[in-house]
Amino acid sequence: LVSREHHPDRSVVQVGGVSIGPQTVTLIAGPCAVETPDQTLAAARMAQAAGATLLRGGAFKPRTSPYAFQGLGERGLQILAEVRQETGLPIVTEVVGAHDVAMVADYADMLQVGTRNMQNFTLLQAVGEAGKPVLLKRGMNATIEEWLMAAEYIAQRGNLDIVLCERGIRTFEPATRNTLDISAVPVAQRLSHLPVIVDPSHSGGRRDLVLPLSRAAVVAGADGIIVDVHPQPDIALCDGPQALVADDLQALARTMEDLAGFM
Ligand code: PEP
Repeated sequence: LVSREHHPDRSVVQVGGVSIGPQTVTLIAGPCAVETPDQTLAAARMAQAAGATLLRGGAFKPRTSPYAFQGLGERGLQILAEVRQETGLPIVTEVVGAHDVAMVADYADMLQVGTRNMQNFTLLQAVGEAGKPVLLKRGMNATIEEWLMAAEYIAQRGNLDIVLCERGIRTFEPATRNTLDISAVPVAQRLSHLPVIVDPSHSGGRRDLVLPLSRAAVVAGADGIIVDVHPQPDIALCDGPQALVADDLQALARTMEDLAGFM
């Protein structure tokens, strides 16, 4: 269902009136984690001022350590909904368990399945039945074939509104958190009709890498970029070192515009 073999034209996925697909490079930005109403609104305003058209933000955070901030849960979803009301930005947010899909879908415009859950087949089937577009991150240990098969699980349940997101894979290189597999962009686009976007924040894990990795992604043909922003990264409860501040995001948006005009 997700293969290009029987579907030669590349698909466009609509999320709350925003298109993700060929012809545009969609900018999605927002906090890694929803922490407070003020922090989320400030991050959303930064995103909007830079031209982002979708707001990201995690209310359920699948952290490596069980002692790290796990997200605000449903309260976080309520904050996202309030910020959507205020800004008009549709929301992309992660769901980590099949039992939460209906609740998260009540608030979200797009459901995110994170790298750690890419092969959680029960979750994939549940989001396939939730009636909302899905952002499917590549498992950090997954091959492109396994990633596309994960998308197939969602599609098989009747939902073809799937956007693939390359977010870095595990390699022997410790200089970055994960290694952004830039070749995954054209390879996945050739094998599948689904849009492919890139997350330079979670792959590099470092603010200084977000702009160069985004440039690489746009030039490689990515259909969008998803980045973390925070009004005060130094006190962020999750992934502060990779969060952009307002000026960084403006610079990123300008670069994306310049590259789009150039290509
Ligand atoms: C995220 O986008 O908030 C996230 C945790 O990403 P990943 O699943 O790619 O690590």
